[in-house]
Amino acid sequence: MSDTQAPELQTLVKAWKAARERLDAAGIDQPVIDARLMLEVAADATRTDIITDPHRLLTPQQAATLDDYLTRRAAREPVSHILGRKGFWKIMLSVNSHVLTPRPDTETLVEMALRSFPEPMAFNVLDLGVGSGAILLSILAERPAAKGLGIDVSEDALAVARENAANLDLAGRCALLRGDWTNGLGDATFDLVVSNPPYIATAEIETLEPEVRDHEPRIALDGGPDGLDAYRLLAPEILRVLKPGGMFAVEIGHTQSAAVEALFKAAGASNVETSKDLSDRQRVVAGAKNPLEIRG
Ligand code: GLN
Repeated sequence: MSDTQAPELQTLVKAWKAARERLDAAGIDQPVIDARLMLEVAADATRTDIITDPHRLLTPQQAATLDDYLTRRAAREPVSHILGRKGFWKIMLSVNSHVLTPRPDTETLVEMALRSFPEPMAFNVLDLGVGSGAILLSILAERPAAKGLGIDVSEDALAVARENAANLDLAGRCALLRGDWTNGLGDATFDLVVSNPPYIATAEIETLEPEVRDHEPRIALDGGPDGLDAYRLLAPEILRVLKPGGMFAVEIGHTQSAAVEALFKAAGASNVETSKDLSDRQRVVAGAKNPLEIRG
């Protein structure tokens, strides 16, 4: 080893440039952002450090870590799995391959829920298929008088949600329980019910990006032959567990608005409407349970 030269140490700015070039060459969609996110963690640098201290040197260990991240990313592993975390709304969440990585699209659902339940309100919220806890914990983080229940069929997902609830100091205001949708809830009722259920048609899964197809949990994606299986089950159940006057909001695939609206209307929901996400695609179906007892 004595005749090998020590490799030249890289600066933050050079490491970033080399990283994005490598990701770009590998055909990665957003090489600039991905390179920066991985450099920040590998080099223990903030976004500001990269700008204000661009000539800081990476240690050999940091360079090796970054190299490992880039190799994994070039093989289409999601950044969220490589780093084990993902920012969503105003919180940072731990994630792994047992939960759907939170998407910006889903922030539309959070925004709608927060609009309907202003800050001082005390209310209870049910999240069906809670996954990482992204939706439920975002709502609880901004509504200090609210309480929540998150249900998931996967113990591995619940472990992630529990870790996130604890990290965000929200464990005292939410219960995270294993369950098959609403089975086992008995006659508990809620002011707000939210869900981002699986909604991709089974046959479409093979056409998804490798990051999703090969790395994210099928159980959180596969919505059956037409993608609507979960809504068929959930629409009547959500109406059952809502308090009179309560509200629901569910995420949908962008072509599913009419079908999902029809399912909730058939289940007796009122004020059913679809909202668009920031990419102008139909993304959330919301509605209410009539405050008047109209049965009988
Ligand atoms: N929005 C996700 C995707 O397109 C799917 C999420 C879901 O099925 N709930 O990958």
